[in-house]
Amino acid sequence: MRIERDLSRLHEPYDVIVVGGGITGVCVAREAAGRGLRTLLVEKGDFGGGTSSATTKYLHGGIRYLETYEFRVVRESLRERRVLGFAAPHLVEQKRFLMPAWKWSKPSTPLIGAGVGLYSLLGYDSNRGAPDSLRVPRPNWLSKSKLLAAVPWLDPAELQGAFAYHDTLNLHPERLLLAFLKSAVAAGATALNHMRAVGFVTEPGSDANAVDTDGSDVTVRGVTVEDALTGERYDVRGRTVVNAGGPWMDLVLQSLGKSLGVKVNRSKGIHLLTRPVGGRGVVTDTVFARAKTGKHVIISPWMDRSFIGPTDTPETAAPDDVRVDHTDVALILDTVNSTLAPGVDKLTEADVEATTVGIRPLIVDEGKDSYHTSRRHELYDHGPSGVHHLWSIGGGKWTTGRALGEETVMALLDSPALSGVVPRRFDSTHVAAGGAFAWAEDAEPYLREAIRSRGQLGLEPSVREQIARLYGTEHERILDLVEHDPALGARVSARDGVLDIAAQVVFAVTDEGACTLSDIIDRRLVIGTVGQVSAEEIARIAAVAAPVLGWSDEASTAAVDAEVARRTAIESIWRQPVG
Ligand SMILES: Cc1cc2nc3c(=O)[nH]c(=O)nc-3n(C[C@H](O)[C@H](O)[C@H](O)COP(=O)(O)OP(=O)(O)OC[C@H]3O[C@@H](n4cnc5c(N)ncnc54)[C@H](O)[C@@H]3O)c2cc1C
Repeated sequence: MRIERDLSRLHEPYDVIVVGGGITGVCVAREAAGRGLRTLLVEKGDFGGGTSSATTKYLHGGIRYLETYEFRVVRESLRERRVLGFAAPHLVEQKRFLMPAWKWSKPSTPLIGAGVGLYSLLGYDSNRGAPDSLRVPRPNWLSKSKLLAAVPWLDPAELQGAFAYHDTLNLHPERLLLAFLKSAVAAGATALNHMRAVGFVTEPGSDANAVDTDGSDVTVRGVTVEDALTGERYDVRGRTVVNAGGPWMDLVLQSLGKSLGVKVNRSKGIHLLTRPVGGRGVVTDTVFARAKTGKHVIISPWMDRSFIGPTDTPETAAPDDVRVDHTDVALILDTVNSTLAPGVDKLTEADVEATTVGIRPLIVDEGKDSYHTSRRHELYDHGPSGVHHLWSIGGGKWTTGRALGEETVMALLDSPALSGVVPRRFDSTHVAAGGAFAWAEDAEPYLREAIRSRGQLGLEPSVREQIARLYGTEHERILDLVEHDPALGARVSARDGVLDIAAQVVFAVTDEGACTLSDIIDRRLVIGTVGQVSAEEIARIAAVAAPVLGWSDEASTAAVDAEVARRTAIESIWRQPVG
């Protein structure tokens, strides 16, 4: 299923226009299109380019939210962990988490145990209909010696052991998001990236009913969008508009010039990609460690490295201006280092290969800091505030995006704005994501078969496996490209562990809506998620992408220079100058 940037579709009328192409907006579009609603999604940057690409990479219940008694959020998230995993078994993996307990641990060891037990209870249906690869084992206690055998770098002083439990690794959140977007597009949605909503098309008054008491009510009839690639503006007509701007949610509403009483509580979260803590291949489990300071970090083995985070600090800057700084990096390094055994090399800034940053779009929970703020979501119907046919979504998690999408579309269908619309039946709890081999099936046999087929193309097994895992049924399309032009079988990087090939670059542009080098590198391929991408690698990718994107030599050189400069600028903020 192709994601095409077909601007002629801007002239069509829509039932639902979704602003924001993060996981929330994508899931709203999928639910709406699945029910037969004429659906448009506009994203100011790239699909998934906001918070949704800066996560800890887990579909999870959020075990730590039990501390703040968020049982409903945890239950909903555990239910959705199963649903999303079943929708795309090739893009997820069950991962063992180890939660160490020291004598000084807070919460105390028995309380952690009670929390892990409750977490498992709340996920009581995780294994219903699950194939072996998606089954969640029961939690258990690991003695100190077994724990140290699994994680030799942990500080053994006063260590008692660890609770082991499982959550679902989201192998490539950017591609899983694309998979859901593809199913929205397959159901008829139009999705346009690099298309910013800059205002609303409104009419005075309300046709919903007579709440218009002082004559200041307006009804939203669509949005004005601006094409970031050309500067061209369009008015698009829509019967309802859903603001899924995540941390930009309040900024999207600004053009209305009305106070709608919604606020976003922004919390900054960063991760570090470092050399593997304790050495290469030593630890295969994810460690959820809480230091004496009370700060916790999740240390995941990731592509022969460690992926460590997140932080959780209040943020007042606009989301587009937020960057990783020294303080963020130091916070994670100090927390990890305080859990290391004496003699284990401490992590320093020199060990950090790359960083990610995202802004949590939290709801406002009066009197609570961002760490303790609820991860629940709110759906705001702005009708009672005098702006009709417009909804905004606040809060939520990646894992709960589908449920939030469903809730939103049900609310739209219940409103007078969509009166007369008869939706199709659609139950996204049982629909595979775009490219999935099958719903709720073990992906392994499909992957094995995919790796065996078309051996004459001469691609290495590891490359074949990666392509099958990331693209599912669409891996055939990548192989077709290589068959047609064997040069597209070449790797885009000589770096160890970077298995992307040129055909993926072509496919990103022709089938997956990529318009810029960052779209390709950071959200379609793997290379952007495994450390710094060199100028040479960027140039190699541009050389493949340029003819497909219709770039001249000059345009291609300019795009490479701009991308190198962008990446260097981001890094120079947090990295101390050497010497
Ligand atoms: C550090 C960190 C780690 C996390 N880890 C996890 C995890 O492991 N698991 C989990 O379930 N959740 C996790 N979360 C939470 C999760 O990432 C977010 O809740 C989720 O991604 C929010 O999605 P969203 O679509 O609401 O927002 P976003 O992904 O930010 O999407 C909003 C989109 O709206 C677009 N937009 C804004 N203004 C406009 C406009 N005017 N016109 C058009 N488009 C516009 C933006 O460009 C953006 O792409 C984490 C969050 C952070 C910060």
